[in-house]
Amino acid sequence: MKKRLFTPGPTPVPEHVMLKMAEPIIHHRNPEFNEVLTRVNQNLKYLFQTEQPVLTLTSSGTGGVESTFVSLFSPGDTIISVNGGKFGERWVKLPKAYGLKVVEIKVEWGKAPTAQQILEALRAHPETKGVYLTHSETSTGTATDVKALSKLIRENANALVCVDGITAVGAHELRFDEWGLDVCVTGSQKGLMIPPGLAFVALSKRAIAAMETSTLPKFYFDLRKALKSYEKNDTPWTPAVSLVVGVDSALEMLRAEGIENIWRRHERLATAVRSGVVALGLKLFSEFPSYAVTPVWLPEGMDWKVFNKTLKSKYGITIAGGQDDYAGKIFRISHLGYYDELDMVTMVAALEMTLKECGYKFELGAGVQAVLKSFAQ
Ligand SMILES: *Cc1c(COP(=O)(O)O)cnc(C)c1O
Repeated sequence: MKKRLFTPGPTPVPEHVMLKMAEPIIHHRNPEFNEVLTRVNQNLKYLFQTEQPVLTLTSSGTGGVESTFVSLFSPGDTIISVNGGKFGERWVKLPKAYGLKVVEIKVEWGKAPTAQQILEALRAHPETKGVYLTHSETSTGTATDVKALSKLIRENANALVCVDGITAVGAHELRFDEWGLDVCVTGSQKGLMIPPGLAFVALSKRAIAAMETSTLPKFYFDLRKALKSYEKNDTPWTPAVSLVVGVDSALEMLRAEGIENIWRRHERLATAVRSGVVALGLKLFSEFPSYAVTPVWLPEGMDWKVFNKTLKSKYGITIAGGQDDYAGKIFRISHLGYYDELDMVTMVAALEMTLKECGYKFELGAGVQAVLKSFAQ
């Protein structure tokens, strides 16, 4: 059976990227690898729209975010962290584990943080050293207006603007320098279209300066070490060589398509999928939908396990379910990374056939028709 992955990480890997990764391994201290990393470092700047360094770490995305907490801050520092879902929640727990004071802004799942909420927290805590925002909250498929909030934070505080861009980079417009961001992290298995195992961390001049005074304990995730090696297009430890070779190839693809075209493609695919599920009479979950993933309420009374099993066993499709309170209540369709229009037609067609088999009443073909109409516009 043909396998079709529609999850927001891992995401499908292009065939020629997989072939690159299958080539004989090269040594990370020889000129061949240095050449690859030099190109990767350049292309990552393009992806993040920055002139600043973007470090490549061997870890999942969470390790990338952890590296920013331990490398930029000191025990007792105050951090404002927005918790609007599973990942925002993680950026509350993680700094607490390191003895940072965390001011949590709780946001209802499916909603985005407002300027008012950020402003109130900043006014109540003028000592704040960093504000953590999740650009695309994957658990709720919700986008945050990082551009506007970054401006607001910059105008009202000295705090560093730190962004979990893990499912936003490569899906949503993101301009690191122009928007005045200080930290932005992504992971390899999301918009970058390669398997899990690498994290990428962009750092502003202010963030680099903060690293000089940070006293939290660190070693492997010490970004000062990573930055020093980066300047020679090197890494402090053995990197995941095959993944770096893979991301080199994936970044060349992204460059060829053009970053603005990539953002537009994600918007186009997300819009089409949304119109497809709405045409089937289903309800969207998020008030501020992300271009990376579309969460949808399961029809009343439908058993998620049966629904999911049907999609997988009959059509080879893997989607994501809901988490926490929404487990068994919503499902999430990803359109992040290596996808095109026909992939979305396939996904909605399989969704229709599955819904039909699960006893849901609707006009067969209505979703696919809406998807096609959306693309024709
Ligand atoms: C996937 C994801 C993460 C976690 O990354 P890991 O690679 O699983 O550590 C963090 N934030 C968001 C928004 C994500 O989608």
